[in-house]
Amino acid sequence: MFSSHDVLAYADRLISLRHALHREPELGLDLPLTQAKVLAALDGLPLEITTGTSLTSVTAVLRGGRPGPAVLLRGDMDALPVQEESGLDFASAIPGVMHACGHDIHTSALVGAAHLLAGRREDLAGDVVFMFQPGEEGQRGAKVMIDEGVLDAAGQRVIAAYAIHAAAAVLPLGVVATRPGTMLAASDSVTVTVHGKGGHGSSPHLAVDPVPAMCEMVTALQTMVTRTADVFDPAVITVGSIHAGSAFNVIPESGTFHATVRTFSPETHQVIQAGVERVVRGIADAHGVRVEVDYQADYPVTVNDPVEAAFALTTVRELVGPERAIEAPRPVTGAEDFSFVLDQVPGAYLMIGAVPPGTDPATAPMNHAPQAIFDDRCVPEAAVVLAALAAARLRQAAA
Ligand SMILES: [Zn+2]
Ligand SMILES: [Zn+2]
Repeated sequence: MFSSHDVLAYADRLISLRHALHREPELGLDLPLTQAKVLAALDGLPLEITTGTSLTSVTAVLRGGRPGPAVLLRGDMDALPVQEESGLDFASAIPGVMHACGHDIHTSALVGAAHLLAGRREDLAGDVVFMFQPGEEGQRGAKVMIDEGVLDAAGQRVIAAYAIHAAAAVLPLGVVATRPGTMLAASDSVTVTVHGKGGHGSSPHLAVDPVPAMCEMVTALQTMVTRTADVFDPAVITVGSIHAGSAFNVIPESGTFHATVRTFSPETHQVIQAGVERVVRGIADAHGVRVEVDYQADYPVTVNDPVEAAFALTTVRELVGPERAIEAPRPVTGAEDFSFVLDQVPGAYLMIGAVPPGTDPATAPMNHAPQAIFDDRCVPEAAVVLAALAAARLRQAAA
């Protein structure tokens, strides 16, 4: 079994890797600099490495000393289009791009897990697949890697899959949380385009103004959520982007807004999707504008297998103590494309606190905020958690 001491020899190297990744963040499915750093950090380990064809993924397989099943560990590697304001001395050197979701932590931790498990290779009865994934932030990178065969990379379908995500707020440093069943929300995106008829701002009766109709749609969507979703099976709609017009005295031809939708069950998912269409089309009719609604179901609900979640919690409790491994009381409204992995194989998704000591987790800037700070110390911690999960799961399968 691993202990937190096992990772000490690697901790400085992992934290340097984390800083290098943080300084040079990349977006989406194409992360050549990140991929090169990962390949360099894995160099010399006894791994079978393949890289993606339609994305810059890295899949590494570690063969245990004895035969057995395969388990998968995943780390996502992409950053966000955010201008960093963390004030860290290793802050992003790329304008407008930031590791604001802590994926630099996940990447380094997965490298650490590969080093830890490679060091115990002879004790493993089975294989470990390391899934270094681009494109979590909306590009379905996990789905692309599944289509390219990551779940069968060891020559057999993995029997379990685990991922851990750093939290810049809520969870104190080093505290690990997971739960059986629903862990994260489903995420949809909606684009609504409203077409009117442009004209002079002084003469709206001669035009068809899309702006008031759009404004009504935005507020009516919030009312729709409160009147149609079961309060015990909630939903969130946020219109995060709205654009129309170019001048104060011109009625624009059209306008567009974009929303994200979060739900936790297929029932509410359906109710909300239908509600969005109904409300937006109804308001468009009422005001004589034409509307296009593009509703995309992006990421499904992330559901932890109850047995795997309990196994993960027990394993982490043995590793870090019961006070630092807790059952999350409720799901998180974030969404994850690890849901595509957990749709195919049982597993668990865990969170780890990365709030710097001295900062109140309740008010710390959250993931995706320009001021978000993830403490370095959760890198070795997450590495040993991932390694312990893989080793313990293979040992359990052999027993
Ligand atoms: Zn994120
Ligand atoms: Zn993330």
